[in-house]
Amino acid sequence: NEAKREGQRFKRFHPTMDKQLLERLVLEHDLHKALSRDEFLVVYQPQIDVHTGQIISVEALIRWNHPVRGWISPLHFIPLAEENGLIVPIGEWMLRTACRQLKEWHNQGFTSLGVSVNLSMRQFFQQDLVDMIDRILKESKLSSPYLELEITESMTMNVNHTIDMLHKLKKLGVKIAVDDFGTGYSSLLYLKEFPIDRLKIDRSFIRDVTTNKHDAAIISMIVSIANHLEMEVIAEGVEHVDQLDFLWEQQCRQVQGYLFSPPILPEQLPLHFHEIQK
Ligand code: C2E
Ligand code: MG
Ligand code: MG
Ligand code: MG
Repeated sequence: NEAKREGQRFKRFHPTMDKQLLERLVLEHDLHKALSRDEFLVVYQPQIDVHTGQIISVEALIRWNHPVRGWISPLHFIPLAEENGLIVPIGEWMLRTACRQLKEWHNQGFTSLGVSVNLSMRQFFQQDLVDMIDRILKESKLSSPYLELEITESMTMNVNHTIDMLHKLKKLGVKIAVDDFGTGYSSLLYLKEFPIDRLKIDRSFIRDVTTNKHDAAIISMIVSIANHLEMEVIAEGVEHVDQLDFLWEQQCRQVQGYLFSPPILPEQLPLHFHEIQK
């Protein structure tokens, strides 16, 4: 027992672990200053309607340009921000930036374009989320149906809260999408109960769809459910033409992925419009 305890102590103070913890603390410390130092950037990934070949909307994705480490993936810092609460001001900044940018595109003549913004768990439980979004829409003079909020299945575990929150958001007029659909707690019951406008099929199902029958069956089922429940459906992570062919056959009209475009800087988007709408 003595030896075991020693072993645990050793593990706890193992040098590599120390390093990880230290890195995390440093990152968290830097994250506190990132907003005021203007280190965040938003990139936008086009979402395409395969029938018309046109960009219908874009997903806003955050990037952090760390002064020393360079670009850091949201997969690394969003969970940190979620834990320490910084996601609340960061999320507000994200929504405001995306809405202002969309308004600018509308003013440039791309009037049918929509924008999707990812919500995090903490934001979804934020007391003043609805008021904040209302305020941002008004101040950016953006009509609410052009803004879509992406939630994940894991946020919907508290069914009463979800119904309440989603109805308040729908009252504002914004759209709701379920991101990474199929990877979380998927109950068909909630699909019926929640006011959802769009399902985003997780890219893990798309990846091997041409060789994996199970993935193909799942995608086919999701598209069918969406079509029957009169929701829109979009496939994430489309990288190859054969994946696109499969989705076309399944009548999945909307796609997002590297095949069309990676996330791009806002000033690049008008160029893509010309490319696609020529
Ligand atoms: P997500 O919302 O599912 O976003 C899609 C991710 O897939 C993006 O990664 C995008 O760059 C990537 N992607 C798009 N097309 C392809 C493709 O064809 N192949 C592959 N392999 N990847 C593709 P990104 O930008 O690194 O974001 C990762 C995740 O971080 C997002 O996943 C989202 O959950 C989160 N995130 C990003 N921005 C925000 C934000 O502003 N707020 C919150 N709460 N979360 C965010
Ligand atoms: Mg998303
Ligand atoms: Mg996501
Ligand atoms: Mg996703």
